[in-house]
Amino acid sequence: MDPLDTLGRPLHDLRISVTDRCNFRCVYCMPKEIFGKDFQFLPRAEILTFEEIERLVRIFVGLGVQKIRLTGGEPLVRRDLERLVEKLAALGDLDLTLTTNGSLLAQKANALAAAGLRRITVSLDSLDDATFRTMNDVDFPVAKVLAGIEAARAAGLAPIKINMVTKRGVNESSIVPMARYFKGTGMTLRFIEFMDVGSTNGWRLDDVVPAREIVALIDREMPLEPMAPAYRGEVANRYRYKDGSGEIGIIASVTQPFCADCTRARLSADGSLYTCLFATQGHDLRALVRGDATDEEIAKAIAAVWTERTDRYSELRSGDTAGLQKIEMSFIGG
Ligand code: SAM
Ligand code: SF4
Ligand code: SF4
Repeated sequence: MDPLDTLGRPLHDLRISVTDRCNFRCVYCMPKEIFGKDFQFLPRAEILTFEEIERLVRIFVGLGVQKIRLTGGEPLVRRDLERLVEKLAALGDLDLTLTTNGSLLAQKANALAAAGLRRITVSLDSLDDATFRTMNDVDFPVAKVLAGIEAARAAGLAPIKINMVTKRGVNESSIVPMARYFKGTGMTLRFIEFMDVGSTNGWRLDDVVPAREIVALIDREMPLEPMAPAYRGEVANRYRYKDGSGEIGIIASVTQPFCADCTRARLSADGSLYTCLFATQGHDLRALVRGDATDEEIAKAIAAVWTERTDRYSELRSGDTAGLQKIEMSFIGG
């Protein structure tokens, strides 16, 4: 039973937010003014247990999911996350990965690799300490993230991808130094256009550094050529260095939307299913998991949501949509 949505898109990827908490307050994701001392994060009892996540993943795999990404919030702040990795790795031939801010990776890389994680994505927005601290807003130094990346490499997690959100006037000047640093390392640097996820990050179109500008900046010093996508639904546009020293990716969800091939579903930490990063509403799976629904009944419920899916937010984005009350990125994961 591999359901297709109303635009003929299959369900191939599942992103699982394992916690809505984070030790960073990135200005484009969890601005301090909103996510301050008094912010109410999910109580523990509302968060899916590892056993509940494992059961849901099994069901999603039955519906065609091949790729699982653990995310958050910051996934590595969830205690014993490697136990979940171990459970999911045991489910068989899944492409299992994780996106992290890298802050706890130096301690965790070996345990994650031993549990069966194969590859990893680390977010890093600049190599310049002052710029990075401005973006993470908790005074976290670049060196510790680089140490985390090194630990991941040493633990054999590969390939490693690096995510850099680019925000006009904040870290544009870090684009070329980041490209220089990761060129020839075997790691793929991916630039992400600043997106209007959620409704708290004060997004304005003027703050987006468009993909073509990023490519032009790098190409001037390190010539690039476009590459074909590796598979249908790949979110990043790929470019390789003409001298053969690697590639970069650009996730241009604002200037070059890719909804037509979007095969991704998202599961929030409290067990709601979202069919778009820009959704305003989820579908409660936790009630089914904690009720007496059978796996077949849950599969049917998920398939029913997916077959009715019409999402293509990025293709419809406008001044009006930016103001919608959307779910926060830290809640449903990137
Ligand atoms: N905390 C982890 C991290 O930062 O890697 C995982 C969760 S984070 C929500 C996932 C990805 O979304 C990160 O690479 C982050 O930089 C990106 N992200 C967050 N807010 C964004 C925004 N407004 N626009 C574009 N990317 C964003
Ligand atoms: Fe935390 Fe990741 Fe959001 Fe930054 S982007 S605030 S690290 S969840
Ligand atoms: Fe997929 Fe929604 Fe992003 Fe379009 S806007 S690519 S439908 S998550």
